[in-house]
Amino acid sequence: MNTPKRYTITAALPYTNGPIHIGHLAGVYVPADIYARYKRLTGNDVAFICGSDEHGVPITIKAKKEGVTPQDIVDKYHKIIKKSFVDFGITFDNYSRTTAKIHHETASEFFKTLYDKHEFIEEVTEQLYDKEADQFLADRFITGTCPICKNEEAYGDQCENCGSSLNATDLINPKSAITGNVPTLKETKHWFLPLNKYEDFLKEWILKGHKKDWKPNVYGQVKSWVDLGLKPRAVTRDLDWGIPVPVPGGEGKVLYVWFDAPIGYISATKEWAAREGKDWEPYWKDKDTKLVHFIGKDNIVFHCIIFPAMLKAEGSYILPDNVPANEFLNLEGKKLSTSKNWAVWLPDYLNDFPNQQDVLRYALTANAPESKDNDFTWKDFQARNNNELVAIFGNFINRVVVLTNKYYEGIIPEASEFSEVDNETLAAIKAYPTVIESSIERYRFREASQELMNLARLGNKYLADEEPWKLIKTDEIRTKTIMYVALQIASALATLCEPFLPFTSDKLKKILRLALNDNTDVTLSAVEMSWADISEKNVLIPSGHQIGKGELLFSKIEDKTIQEQLDKLEASKKANEAANKVIEPQKEIITFEDFTKLDMRVGTILEAEKMSKTKKLLVLKVDTGIDIRTIVSGIAESFSPEEVIGKQVTVLVNLAPRALRGVESEGMILMTETPEGKLVFVNPDTAVNSGFQIS
Ligand SMILES: [Zn+2]
Repeated sequence: MNTPKRYTITAALPYTNGPIHIGHLAGVYVPADIYARYKRLTGNDVAFICGSDEHGVPITIKAKKEGVTPQDIVDKYHKIIKKSFVDFGITFDNYSRTTAKIHHETASEFFKTLYDKHEFIEEVTEQLYDKEADQFLADRFITGTCPICKNEEAYGDQCENCGSSLNATDLINPKSAITGNVPTLKETKHWFLPLNKYEDFLKEWILKGHKKDWKPNVYGQVKSWVDLGLKPRAVTRDLDWGIPVPVPGGEGKVLYVWFDAPIGYISATKEWAAREGKDWEPYWKDKDTKLVHFIGKDNIVFHCIIFPAMLKAEGSYILPDNVPANEFLNLEGKKLSTSKNWAVWLPDYLNDFPNQQDVLRYALTANAPESKDNDFTWKDFQARNNNELVAIFGNFINRVVVLTNKYYEGIIPEASEFSEVDNETLAAIKAYPTVIESSIERYRFREASQELMNLARLGNKYLADEEPWKLIKTDEIRTKTIMYVALQIASALATLCEPFLPFTSDKLKKILRLALNDNTDVTLSAVEMSWADISEKNVLIPSGHQIGKGELLFSKIEDKTIQEQLDKLEASKKANEAANKVIEPQKEIITFEDFTKLDMRVGTILEAEKMSKTKKLLVLKVDTGIDIRTIVSGIAESFSPEEVIGKQVTVLVNLAPRALRGVESEGMILMTETPEGKLVFVNPDTAVNSGFQIS
């Protein structure tokens, strides 16, 4: 493509069955926002589009579980998700939702067009059906074994383990998610998009046409699917939550959520254009528009095969120029999981780290899962903040602003003659926009963020080498020149950091009194500076310009704060383990005579001490009413010796004695476990005499 006239940038529609977490931010929304902000800063016409994906089976399952309507579920999470995006500075031009009227109309029309063009195959097939629930089992209403990777928890439409797109009838050992029953087959009519018809087109367009410019992980996935051979795919479902199938015979059926969701990008663009008084069509139909889809790797098949086939079938739309899908972000070495609550939720983050959105944006970008799965650790987060944002970026800016205020009352001094180092430094600043652009244009946002940090490093090193705080005592003229150069670097940083650290950029612009993007200038004398100016102009911030007072951009994160986050994760892990604990099946039946052989008594613990060189064992002296005896019990990880002295407990007194680490134990104390895994005594709930029998 020649220079595009405009950009349509989409970010994967988040599914409204829960809030969003750092994995979503790292995988899709932060890179998409960096790209959109950068395109706007460089003077492009941008439509940055997203919205909530509100149809599909998981929402109906969640609604059923919670005893509310699907609409209640999507209303709740749409609000939460939308707020998170605003909170984290994700600058969508429009954030819509697929339950919006305009979307129902757009998706319905789209289907109708394909139907009228005879692009669908209409077929009566046998679909999995749950007799007890009296309904067809679409997608996530069925689980079973993936025929490709043998993952036992694959869904009816997709295996999340290997990313394969599936038909429910492909699953091995299918099970209904509603009743757990083995489903039966029942005839139903559906409309299929014959993907096999598009194999040649996909080979030509992606495999030949985008071999060089698409990310290898995306290209590789597409290639493996196309090589396997594509099959017709049902685009309708037997379900009552979604967009009704708008053609004869479609009663009681809705569009498949993955058919309607990507059309959501189009309807959200329409909604935006109507609001802004623009024409939406060029953003989707003009060949000079560059369309880019930001997604996670689990969405590759839908954005690189199914949606393009739909667009191609419709005929009037452009195709994406790139689909820079990210791999997955893990959390502390484990896969992020909504159901297992192994995640850092954005509302929680903001609660624990108020006004520190940029720290998370930066940590996630610097460690983005661009070419392989990557791990988010709180230690790395802390290091990115303390060693880079605080020690390099923040430290440099703070020194420049404080010294300018101290020496010159905040007025930028005159430079006199530049030294060689000054000239090199000023020339280096000019190269940064191009260097950062080059990384962003190739969707390498980690690299871009590190180049930005290199500019801050350059500034930090310049000041450390030139030491204006020493020179001020001996050479005021030279000091002025040094401060002037340092202020040029600070100004360049204020603009170049905007795509990555938007909140910091605003703060810094206010301090330096640079014009803000939205023209809410802090003063009338604010200096205008564009991205291009940094390469093109010799003076970014002129002598005589008054800057404001300093303010800390970043603050150090202490070990204690990080430990609190780790403890929080550990707690959710434990809670999850407890929730998923398997209840053992009942043991074989015993007779009453068998039971009467057990002699159980109430006993009282008189003494307790830890057995040396063991972690688990306490040596107890127990009054059984019959005698006072020694019992060794494996409870030392749950109780200190002091805690158990005086406790009434249940003792099996006629258990054959056995030696544990050389101490003879005569009997056993009955215990069970809390959900958190702590042992607890099974004891009488009121005081009774030792020796009384339990029967
Ligand atoms: Zn699989």
